[in-house]
Amino acid sequence: MKSYKISTKCVQAGYTPRNGEPRQIPIVQSTTFKYDTSEDMGKLFDLEASGYFYTRLQNPTNDYVAAKIAALEGGTAGMLTSSGQAANFFALFNICECGSHIVSSSSIYGGTFNLIAVTMAKMGIEATFVPPDCTEEELNAAFRPNTRAVFGETIANPALTVLDIEKFAKAAHAHGVPLIVDNTFPTPVNCRPIEWGADIVTHSTTKYMDGHGAAVGGAIVDSGKFDWMAHADKFPGLCTPDDSYHGITYATKFGNGAAFITKATSQLMRDFGSIQSPQNAFLLNLGLESLHVRMPRHVENGQAVAEFLAAHPKVNFVNYSGLPTDKYYALAQKYLPNGGCGVVSFEIKGGRTGAENFMKRLKLAAIETHVADARTCCLNPATSTHRQMTDEQLREAGISAGLVRMSCGLEDKEDLIADLRQALED
Ligand SMILES: *Cc1c(COP(=O)(O)O)cnc(C)c1O
Repeated sequence: MKSYKISTKCVQAGYTPRNGEPRQIPIVQSTTFKYDTSEDMGKLFDLEASGYFYTRLQNPTNDYVAAKIAALEGGTAGMLTSSGQAANFFALFNICECGSHIVSSSSIYGGTFNLIAVTMAKMGIEATFVPPDCTEEELNAAFRPNTRAVFGETIANPALTVLDIEKFAKAAHAHGVPLIVDNTFPTPVNCRPIEWGADIVTHSTTKYMDGHGAAVGGAIVDSGKFDWMAHADKFPGLCTPDDSYHGITYATKFGNGAAFITKATSQLMRDFGSIQSPQNAFLLNLGLESLHVRMPRHVENGQAVAEFLAAHPKVNFVNYSGLPTDKYYALAQKYLPNGGCGVVSFEIKGGRTGAENFMKRLKLAAIETHVADARTCCLNPATSTHRQMTDEQLREAGISAGLVRMSCGLEDKEDLIADLRQALED
């Protein structure tokens, strides 16, 4: 599979049926698995053999789909989680503990911001947020001796800033820690962060990967490139024996290619139990089979809508990295040469009320707390997803009160533009 193009991987990676087996991935709708002897099962518990024993930790359906996502991202191992939130929490908590510190881009999804700034802080994990456009000096100054990870989003939701992945990877590696990139918006069809130096990639598969608004889910992919043992003092969880697994040292027993995902599965999934249901994994795989066909259409519609809005007198500004006037155009040309995604954000004249009135008049685009599915939808972040944030935090995340986030679906772009045009008239 490795040598095939991304489109072929979308369709076929992860599951190769043998003679007489089902062509489509089977949904293994079973909580548990049967063994002939306790000895056989004991080997699984000791991580001496691979296999399944309980779906809270692993399930074959999930593993087929995780293997496909790992292949798409160019990683060595992958796992599915119940949601994107669980994916980001696991990716961070797998290498952080009480007393650790995270350097994160300030331009990230509101849920992830709360996770890092509030919930993980309660666990004794501190964070420093840096603007994605900070200089290398500012970025390096954010590190502390206890920094264990750097975090950012390829295209941030909802600010649509583009992460300079190489800059963040360079700083992370100079400080002996991995870069974790949430690649939800571009998907591996439009950007593969591992190729630019990211070590771990996460996804809310709820978005384009599923693509139909059908199933909440998440995924983590390990590049296999980070040398844990070279920084053993920083990552005791991976580099010293795990008492809860009979003294296994993940980094030495499973190597750089598999240590991270094995630990996240056997420890975090065991203890937190945020597994994706096999049914959802099956739906996710249906989405992945057409991801490479859908993404260019989302980009085409996003570009057309962004261009229309940018020229409209009732619109103050448009954020879309495919517009040559956009602040992130140059970075997008580098990291997203085929386009980023179908999400456009813009500020309507008249602030909060202007945005509210405009959204009320839309006929095709529905008001939803969602992005990145087949149907066009929109949202005013300040009054919905980001309402917990203070005005200052909103500003740092690049969100104004009148900002509308519009996720362009797979409809005809002329119909989308006609809908916008009538909603902007009055
Ligand atoms: C939606 C989203 C998340 C959270 O994912 P859920 O599946 O809703 O838990 C995380 N990161 C980004 C960039 C997102 O868009």
